[in-house]
Amino acid sequence: MKFNTKTIHGGQQPEPTTGAVMPPIFQTSTFAHAIPGEAQEYEYARGKNPTRTALENSLASLENGTHGFAFASGLAAIDCVLRLLKPGDQVIAGDDIYGGTYRMFTQLFQKYGLEFTYVNMNTVENVTKAITPKTKLVWLETPTNPLMKIADIANISSAVKSVNKEVLIAVDNTFATPYLQQPLNLGADIVMHSATKYLGGHSDLIMGALVVKEEKLAKDIHFIQFAAGAISGPMDSFLALRGIKTLHVRMQRHCENGKKVAQFLENHPKVGKVYYPGLESHPNYAIAKKQMKDFGGMVSFSLNENTKEATFKFLKSTKLFTLAESLGGVESLVNHPVTMSHASIPEKKRLKIGITAALIRLSVGIEAIEDLLADLEQALNI
Ligand SMILES: *Cc1c(COP(=O)(O)O)cnc(C)c1O
Repeated sequence: MKFNTKTIHGGQQPEPTTGAVMPPIFQTSTFAHAIPGEAQEYEYARGKNPTRTALENSLASLENGTHGFAFASGLAAIDCVLRLLKPGDQVIAGDDIYGGTYRMFTQLFQKYGLEFTYVNMNTVENVTKAITPKTKLVWLETPTNPLMKIADIANISSAVKSVNKEVLIAVDNTFATPYLQQPLNLGADIVMHSATKYLGGHSDLIMGALVVKEEKLAKDIHFIQFAAGAISGPMDSFLALRGIKTLHVRMQRHCENGKKVAQFLENHPKVGKVYYPGLESHPNYAIAKKQMKDFGGMVSFSLNENTKEATFKFLKSTKLFTLAESLGGVESLVNHPVTMSHASIPEKKRLKIGITAALIRLSVGIEAIEDLLADLEQALNI
């Protein structure tokens, strides 16, 4: 099946008792047992629920994996990956990652004895140099949030595996979605999503996902999910599955609009730096072009007038771009990483990697591009 068919049919069958084409919302916590003590597919909904199963099969199909898992949030999915490790293990992570991921690493799991080493993932050597005998996991995010850096998934995976094939490679694929890149095909072991974003696509749910292609890993993840309990509910699973059915059409338009917004900003006299992997001026443009089908709908930039006042004036002036956290919905959003999505990263560390108070992040939606550009133009001129 081609990707654009998988979004609709991948892992899906009509519901067996009624033939319902969309899986019903099985709003139930438990299932009648046929015989005492005999295992059956559905028993208690923390373990398995048919609506969630339908979604998980879809996720596995989209990422070309064998097993999908739907969690209560993106962070719950990351939490599950970290629980595969034990005290003393080392994680190598990108130095520009989602603020909540960084907060979990530093403020939660460090306390339990995991060690985190942050490197700039833009070269393979930065990653291999950081490997020690304790390394158990490499955590990649590409494109990164909010600086849109690109890591070469295939080269990093093969270089790390050639040092130690036991090291797990996990990729946060939230920004790209499987429409643009499929990390399991590039050598990664685990793909993670905040399904809250593009997979759901309509800003109406919080959800996370993991997809793997290996039986033992799937078993371990299923155990942790069942034992710790951070599952997605049936209603949210239904909404995510509905969102996924239009992922390919939405993404196509997000990419078209994203590129036009990035080009518009790059040529605007009031705009300083633009961060978009689809611009030839982007330092990792070549890797992005090799690795991704297109370049997505996320664009970050700063104004020429590099002050907090000018930045705040812009943030307050857009009309179609709503000032809000989150991304990946059909509607356009504008976000100020320093005070919003990345407020949990200490100032010194933020500045070191280039997240300044002047940085603005856009989630370009699928509205008419003329209206989006007109909104940006008026806000830049206020
Ligand atoms: C939002 C986000 C997360 C966290 O997901 P939640 O669903 O908010 O828990 C993780 N990674 C990236 C890249 C994100 O954008």
